[in-house]
Amino acid sequence: MHILVTNDDGVFAPGLLALANELKKMGDVSVVAPDRNWSASGHVKTLSRPLRVKKVTLADGSDALACDGAPSDCVALPVLGLLEKPVEMVVSGINPNANLGHDVTYSGTVTAAMEASIWNLPGIAVSLDAPEYNSRDLDYSTAAQVGALVAQKVWDKKLPKNTLLNVNVPYCSMDELKGFKITRQGLRVYRDELVRREDPHGNPYYWIGGEAPSGIPEDGTDIGALSKKYVSITPLSLDLTAYDCAQMITDWGLAK
Ligand code: MN
Repeated sequence: MHILVTNDDGVFAPGLLALANELKKMGDVSVVAPDRNWSASGHVKTLSRPLRVKKVTLADGSDALACDGAPSDCVALPVLGLLEKPVEMVVSGINPNANLGHDVTYSGTVTAAMEASIWNLPGIAVSLDAPEYNSRDLDYSTAAQVGALVAQKVWDKKLPKNTLLNVNVPYCSMDELKGFKITRQGLRVYRDELVRREDPHGNPYYWIGGEAPSGIPEDGTDIGALSKKYVSITPLSLDLTAYDCAQMITDWGLAK
């Protein structure tokens, strides 16, 4: 089995190394990841400039490739033949913060797994529900083991076409985990605020500031599962069609 590991936090992020090392127990692992942080970059295809790839050495001495493209580019290049061996599965992460509800449309971690799905490969995104934004000192061991466990299951059982898995892991030890829940996307509550400042020349500039998002911990959702210390596995589809809405729009009479 040849697994591609990528992320959106940059090739040297500790979460990626923890995940890659756990997956090496299952098969061959290649790491191709962005050379910088691409968190909240969404699904990207870089077409307007060349992409550069260079060999780097990770903290444990292992080899990896760093690319100056987005996480989804880091999946597309290997899938299109960058590596000698064809890629058979893509695992993205471990993101230091959970990717829940609408986050999946922003998340580079999740969109890397979406890119795998576009190429008919199994894709898994793994994120850790860490309590704070200090990603350096986090313990990724539980999330890495969970990621490998899910990857093994996906390998054995296969995923339907156009489906990827969004896995979110509570921040606790393996022993403290309550178990696994298969969930739907919950409702994130974004608390973004427009921060307006002035540059030295008197021109305004803007930041999207505010507090980190919260969420509604409803039963059956990703947010609900994490709040009760369960691993959340949400199967995602790239078909975003709002089937419930089709009849209503048809009734507008435009499609006579
Ligand atoms: Mn990230």
